[in-house]
Amino acid sequence: MSLSDLTRSAVELAVAEYDEIGPERFLEKYGFAKARKYFLVIENREYHSKAIAGAAHGFLPGQPMPLHSIDFSGGENTVAHVLGNLGFVVRSTEPKPRNPTWNRDELILALDLYLENPASPPGKTSSKIAKLSEDLNKLAAILGVSGDGQFRNPNGVYMKVMNFRRLDPTFAAVGKAGLSHGGREEELVWTEFSQAPDLLRAVATAIRAAIVAETLHTAQPKLDYVEEAEEGRLLTVLHQRRERNRGLVEARKQKALGETHELRCEACDLSFGDRYGPHGDGFIEVHHVRPLHTLREGDKTALTDLALVCANCHRMIHRRKPWLSVSQLRTLLNELSTAARPETN
Ligand SMILES: [Zn+2]
Ligand SMILES: [Zn+2]
Repeated sequence: MSLSDLTRSAVELAVAEYDEIGPERFLEKYGFAKARKYFLVIENREYHSKAIAGAAHGFLPGQPMPLHSIDFSGGENTVAHVLGNLGFVVRSTEPKPRNPTWNRDELILALDLYLENPASPPGKTSSKIAKLSEDLNKLAAILGVSGDGQFRNPNGVYMKVMNFRRLDPTFAAVGKAGLSHGGREEELVWTEFSQAPDLLRAVATAIRAAIVAETLHTAQPKLDYVEEAEEGRLLTVLHQRRERNRGLVEARKQKALGETHELRCEACDLSFGDRYGPHGDGFIEVHHVRPLHTLREGDKTALTDLALVCANCHRMIHRRKPWLSVSQLRTLLNELSTAARPETN
């Protein structure tokens, strides 16, 4: 005999006894603690679900013994499930886990699919929607994002793809509203990429390739000093990994030392050796200058792809999207120092 044998009438008999003797005596009689998470709800009255289930066992035909608290576990998969199957309403005090909002990588992939054919996007049950759903689940695993069982399922993915119609002037013009409210990130991605289809295709292709490559890795990538780029998180991770490749960094430093006998920031000219003396000798960071959508896992990084930058300038480059180029940062610094220089005659 187990919980799964419970019948509706046995539960109703337990409920009747509970009503008759009151919750305290009922819990005491059957040896249960108060429920914290799951309550059986009947006509607006709430019952401690686990105690009811245990007691109900004693009301089954053949008069088996009631179950004790230690005989079974409460919770969603046992008591709530069994009572729910018998047609009872069980209320949970647990907040339902919500799926995280769509991140930039996901929106880029969704927009790429939408723009393939805005007039006739792929249907809910199409293989393209199924593939996107699959890619997004892999991406989430790589980035350590989790959701419930419905996470990025074909239905939700289809809705999100269709949601771009809300932002598409072609459809907004004829009064077609989107299916649901989108976030700000969705609008940003639309604004940045909808008029640049070639770039969008290149970025989406690079993300998909990185998903395939990264699925083989186990470690979850983290971003520390780097703000996520316009091309999304996964490609940002690849960028950072290249910048941290010790062998490459060392080779790039040796190249500079061979050519100029010093390590100087290409944006602000700082030399750590000059600034900090012997303690700073040999220190510099490198910034990988290639556009992120051209990065492919396994591609060789050329030393010419790496710029020497001081730690401050490197952070400023990556501070927000769009990232600055080294020359943009250099120009910015020059303009500031020109503006600050006192007038001379
Ligand atoms: Zn610098
Ligand atoms: Zn960098």
